[in-house]
Amino acid sequence: MPETSVKVVLLEKSPHPTAMTATAARTCYSASEPSAIVARFERKPDDMIQTVDRVRAAGHHSTLEHNIYVFGVTGLSRAATHQLVRHRHLQFDQQSQRYLAFKEATFPYVKPRKLSSIPELSRKFDELMAQIGETYHAFIEAGLPGEDARFVLPNAAASQLVVSGNARAWYEFLTLRTCNMAQWEIREMAFEILRILKREDPVLFRDAGATCVRGYCHEPNGPECPRYIAVIRAQQEQGRRADAWLEQRAKKIT
Ligand SMILES: Cc1cc2nc3c(=O)[nH]c(=O)nc-3n(C[C@H](O)[C@H](O)[C@H](O)COP(=O)(O)OP(=O)(O)OC[C@H]3O[C@@H](n4cnc5c(N)ncnc54)[C@H](O)[C@@H]3O)c2cc1C
Repeated sequence: MPETSVKVVLLEKSPHPTAMTATAARTCYSASEPSAIVARFERKPDDMIQTVDRVRAAGHHSTLEHNIYVFGVTGLSRAATHQLVRHRHLQFDQQSQRYLAFKEATFPYVKPRKLSSIPELSRKFDELMAQIGETYHAFIEAGLPGEDARFVLPNAAASQLVVSGNARAWYEFLTLRTCNMAQWEIREMAFEILRILKREDPVLFRDAGATCVRGYCHEPNGPECPRYIAVIRAQQEQGRRADAWLEQRAKKIT
């Protein structure tokens, strides 16, 4: 079965992202040279962390742009990669359906999760993919180039790509794509990226994620979203003060 699912690997990253963001921020307000500021933060890591927390909260996000993260992504459907490449501050190189023609009568594809609870439709889906694979293969065997044979491949066809971006671009991506409103597949990928970035640079990405993580919802149906409700409840339990907008909606959903 050539069914597949998304896999995300961090290929490369800037070596000292937290220090670079703190240094960029402090340079704006200090008479010291940037190299001296780096050295000072090495001696005083708490000061560095506080500086990063402050600039993130203040929206001084140009300071995040000095740090690059490069990911390898496999097993993402063309339906999802089409959404991914809409993020104009990320950079992409994607496997070509022109230059890479599948040699077999099968091709890797992604199946919507919801089909697993409807066995009959799940089977039909697999049968259709097999039929498409055979037609595609017949085209290639007949001498058609990959760039023409690919016309029969579906949105479900799996792809792979290298995608890079600076920390600010990833922040913006995560805000939109870890939200419950995002499509499930790109959301799955976004959560993988969020998990990796938080593991690598927990201070820099402390409040990365959908807007509810930062205390509000940008979607009109926020109050009905189970994740939003969970986040608000957790904030209330921790005794964190919500703003008026948040309290009003929290009352509506409890
Ligand atoms: C839930 C959801 C549903 C969606 N549904 C659809 C849909 O039905 N149809 C559709 O076509 N797309 C849809 N999209 C894609 C969406 O319209 C955006 O293309 C995508 O989310 C990238 O967002 P962005 O443009 O903010 O990000 P980026 O391109 O990464 O840009 C980041 C930020 O940079 C700034 N920026 C970038 N370029 C410019 C510019 N030229 N001028 C000014 N500021 C700029 C903006 O502040 C922007 O928010 C959907 C996205 C989501 C999350």
